[in-house]
Amino acid sequence: SQIKKYLITELARNCARENTMLGDSVLDATMGNGNDTLLLAELVGKEGKVYAFDVQEAAVKNTKQLLGNCLVTTELILDSHDKIDEYIEEELSFAMYNLGYLPGGDKKIATEKNSSLESIKKCLGLLKTGGMVTICLYPGHEAGMAEAVAIESYLGETSNKDYFVLKTANINVKGSPYLIMIKKLR
Ligand code: SAM
Repeated sequence: SQIKKYLITELARNCARENTMLGDSVLDATMGNGNDTLLLAELVGKEGKVYAFDVQEAAVKNTKQLLGNCLVTTELILDSHDKIDEYIEEELSFAMYNLGYLPGGDKKIATEKNSSLESIKKCLGLLKTGGMVTICLYPGHEAGMAEAVAIESYLGETSNKDYFVLKTANINVKGSPYLIMIKKLR
């Protein structure tokens, strides 16, 4: 299961590599231990800006340690990602959601259907044309499944003139982690 998860998160990280430029403003909606925040900070460089959110103090603390010099262009925000509009005013080029709970942390503190959906809706509003959002979903447990269903049904109703929405999943494994990629077309 580690390999499956790794492939999905690595695919999301490759999307970040291919869809960001130096100077961009980007979002890590689920900071966790900061691995993705660090990648984004390196990709946008010192002219860029990374907004990273988490509801756990431990996440902010661990990420701060990991970032080192990259901390200057990063805003680590201890708040729920459904409030991104209270912190971000400029257009975003890229946003990353790696839902679920912190590996090695408290499994009870996981992303939730309603706030994740609210955040994704707001994020699509902040995204510039040509920008991309990636979402790693974990339907292997009940709450993760409900979250994945809600997000997919919302995205399924968006106009294909506005968004190109792609999903990759194991076709031979039930309930495996999967990735949704959204490109804003206009
Ligand atoms: N990207 C991270 C990394 O590189 O280590 C892993 C993220 S982990 C799978 C999911 C994170 O989402 C957890 O750290 C959890 O605390 C956080 N989280 C849960 N609910 C949240 C919310 N409403 N807003 C922001 N983060 C939340």
